[in-house]
Amino acid sequence: MTHIEWLSSACSPAGVRIGVTNRHAGFSVGDYASANLGFHVGDDPEAVRANRDSLTALVGCDITWMSQVHGTHIASADEAEWGPLGYLSVGQADAIIVAPGQAGAVMVADCVPLVIADTQGRYAAVVHAGRRGFEQGIAQRVVQALRDRGVAELEAYIGPAICGKCYELPDQMAHELWRQFPHTRAITAQGSAGIDIRSGLVAQLRQCQVSRIRTSSVCTYESTDYFSHRRATHQGQATGRFAVIAALS
Ligand SMILES: [Zn+2]
Repeated sequence: MTHIEWLSSACSPAGVRIGVTNRHAGFSVGDYASANLGFHVGDDPEAVRANRDSLTALVGCDITWMSQVHGTHIASADEAEWGPLGYLSVGQADAIIVAPGQAGAVMVADCVPLVIADTQGRYAAVVHAGRRGFEQGIAQRVVQALRDRGVAELEAYIGPAICGKCYELPDQMAHELWRQFPHTRAITAQGSAGIDIRSGLVAQLRQCQVSRIRTSSVCTYESTDYFSHRRATHQGQATGRFAVIAALS
């Protein structure tokens, strides 16, 4: 059965459960072993279905998914429709806002999974914050969307993602990003230009007065417990996706 690690409720806002899956104990084989949740990565759909269904059972309500496109569209789980694969989906989006009784998922394998939640537990958002979404300000846009709904105080959780020591970019691209977002500046283990998206997100969220921010220390590239697109690519392999879930009771 797909594993999910729930963040301690003492660390989450009232009524908000935040869970992180890993790659263990699922039904997929080969490069996707074993708890791949993505239908779009070339895995056997029946295995993905079994992984998603066991995750739904663990979460205890239907999960809303999205087709992530490195953009800035913010969807609401209220708009979700049952897709041909049998799962609730908001279609193309890079953030889903959920309300009580709903759960949303962001799928990743190095990109940053982010949850921004109302400390009163009325809303939470799961956010796909890869480099391109980060550059386009997806985090601030989600904060604004939650504030537009009347949320005063927000907390954030930044999940497992590739770290600055492992995320190498060509010099020119890295330097441009460092210039725009100084907190992303990192040097890789090889001494080349790197970027740290999670540090950049922390700085952005602080600017938006998000009151408490917790950041996972896990690097997906280094930890074999999670899927890593970059590690797989370096090894000539395909890879799956794990997920961060926000569920509101
Ligand atoms: Zn790393």
